[in-house]
Amino acid sequence: MSRTYIAAALRREVIERAGSCCEYCRTRADDRALDFAIDHVIAEKHGGLTQADNLCLSCYWCNSYKGSDLSSVDWEADSAIVPLFNPRSQVWNDHFQLIGVRLVGVTAHDRVPIALLRLNAVERLKERELLLMLGTYPCLSASQ
Ligand SMILES: [Zn+2]
Repeated sequence: MSRTYIAAALRREVIERAGSCCEYCRTRADDRALDFAIDHVIAEKHGGLTQADNLCLSCYWCNSYKGSDLSSVDWEADSAIVPLFNPRSQVWNDHFQLIGVRLVGVTAHDRVPIALLRLNAVERLKERELLLMLGTYPCLSASQ
C-alpha cells in the first residue's frame, strides 16, 4: 500500500487547525510517543480527496482502528449502520463527553465510533487518567 504524498504546507495547515490534537480522541501529539497521521476522513479508496476539507489529524491508534472505514454497526441497539464521526462536518463536543476517564456518546449511535476506535480500551483509559491528572486532556483545538 502506498502512502499519498501530502505537501508540507497542507500537513502544517491540518496540524495547526487541529491544535496538534487527535481529532478523534482529543489526545495531544506531545503526549504520545507514536507519530500522529494525517487521516483522510473519507478514504481515498472511497473517492476522498487529499485536500484540507477531507483531512484531519489523527493519533496512531485512532488512525489504525479507523483505517478506511466510513461507518460501523450499532450492535447494541438496532444493528443500524452508523456513519463514523466526521471532524470536518461535526463538532466533537456534540457527540462525545468525558465521564470520569471514559468517553461516552452524546447520542445512542455515538457509541459506534467509540467502539470502533477503541476509545475506551483499558490502555487508553490508563493513559487518559494520567493525562487528566497532568491537565493536558482533553486537548482542544482552536475551533473547539
Ligand atoms: Zn486518537
